[in-house]
Amino acid sequence: MFADLHLHTSFSDGTFSPEQVAALGAEKGLSILSLTDHDTLEGCPRMAEACRSKGIQFIPGVELTAEHDGQELHLLAYFVEGPTQVLLAHLAQFQEARRTRIHDIVKRLNALGYDLKVEAVMALANCNSPGRPHVARALVDAGITRTVDEGFERFLKRNRPAWAPKFKVSAHAAIELVHESGGLAVLAHPGVNHVDDRIGELAAAGLDGLECFHPKHSTAASEYYLAAAERYRLLVTGGSDCHGMAKGKPLIGTIKLPQVYVDNLKKAAERWLRRPVAAS
Ligand code: AMP
Ligand code: FE
Ligand code: FE
Ligand code: ZN
Repeated sequence: MFADLHLHTSFSDGTFSPEQVAALGAEKGLSILSLTDHDTLEGCPRMAEACRSKGIQFIPGVELTAEHDGQELHLLAYFVEGPTQVLLAHLAQFQEARRTRIHDIVKRLNALGYDLKVEAVMALANCNSPGRPHVARALVDAGITRTVDEGFERFLKRNRPAWAPKFKVSAHAAIELVHESGGLAVLAHPGVNHVDDRIGELAAAGLDGLECFHPKHSTAASEYYLAAAERYRLLVTGGSDCHGMAKGKPLIGTIKLPQVYVDNLKKAAERWLRRPVAAS
């Protein structure tokens, strides 16, 4: 059995519905899926149901944007089932910060002379967790750019003229928040965020796992992170980070995490919660 533990839907910046993701997962031969939308758990009930109807095990998750010593990193929180009010209040705050950031980015674009409206971005995003990919798509719709990539390259990447800073919770606070909610905190795509020399510190802060397998990791990088996971006694996870068609083609199916890693993750969650964790 194989898993994909990093997936996005249109509840954040993916383009597929939970039902479409579950159907594609089944088509690709995956038996265990986790939904990890940015800053929201809203897609999880539908994803759980869609997975159930396909005979797929489902693990609820969410991807948080955090920082450690000024460096951005992403944390995947798993098994935050029956999320606490504290977690939900924080997610609402992160979503509000995302909406504010969209205003900031659009203001910058307007100052550069481009006629884009916040309402157009929000309508296109049609979710509570909007992000830069939605602005990039709105730029294409408005005829300002030809592709999403062009939008990022010309305007939206860090140090580009329409980039605006994003609110980030500290990694320590995020790990604590995940633990308070009964979940496990996993460092997402470490190879993307250049935090290799901080993995030990994060492990000491309570980090539970490392996403060793990710489409942006070379085989050598995956091996490096597998060794780091062993060294710091971290769980091993992996996922495609599929955003539907947002990145040209669906990535689901490109990462097939062997079941043994999921079993270890479930055992850790059970130990942590002192209760059986049933992936539904
Ligand atoms: P945000 O959360 O608003 O900072 O946006 C980050 C999201 O943008 C992540 O999900 C990335 O995968 C996505 N992203 C970053 N660069 C690009 C790019 N060049 N093309 C498409 N998506 C991108
Ligand atoms: Fe994303
Ligand atoms: Fe990420
Ligand atoms: Zn992601």
